[in-house]
Amino acid sequence: MEKLESITIENNEQYLRQSSKKVEIGDPELHNNIVVLQNYCMQNEVMAMAAVQLGIPKRIVYVKNTNLEILNKRLTDEGKEETKDYNEAKVLINPEIISKEGLTTFWEACASCSWYEGEVKKWYIGKVKRPYKVRVRYLDIDGNVHEDEFEGFESTVLCHEIDHLDGILHIDIADKVIKGTKEERIELRKKDGYTITSQTGNFEQLKSKEIN
Ligand SMILES: [Zn+2]
Repeated sequence: MEKLESITIENNEQYLRQSSKKVEIGDPELHNNIVVLQNYCMQNEVMAMAAVQLGIPKRIVYVKNTNLEILNKRLTDEGKEETKDYNEAKVLINPEIISKEGLTTFWEACASCSWYEGEVKKWYIGKVKRPYKVRVRYLDIDGNVHEDEFEGFESTVLCHEIDHLDGILHIDIADKVIKGTKEERIELRKKDGYTITSQTGNFEQLKSKEIN
């Protein structure tokens, strides 16, 4: 299988900044688009991907892993083998966030916010506030409408991806941004992991009240 590369702010920031188009019912390319997303997610250590990051500017999000336990297991040699094929394989088409509740923080990274310094790959790692719970309306691959609640880390991952569909990157909304290697990111998350400040309450109000 051909190795897929993601679009990055280094090679084409303007492309990432566009607003992705709504998927039309009966789009004949949809199946192929999802295959591209799935292939990328299985070849790379990512939690999820928005189609625009792979050169498909449509409102499609592919979710591979929103499980913190699996994420942590992947950091060990043994866990890497064990969790190699883990894939939630959730596809959300034309997702819209209807409500946001609670407040969390996480040091986020993004396949599109990385670059090479010589041989060393580096990322912009940003501490981002996200709602603890979101209600999302979306279509599945058969065009059925769903309205589901996503809680905890799943909400963080989904909000990051849905932002991509509007050209918003985590570095735009982060309280702090650090440049670092994968190892530095792991250390940062070990010291200061996913934190739930509140599970309820209006997200926007909680966010503005919190002192950084
Ligand atoms: Zn991203």
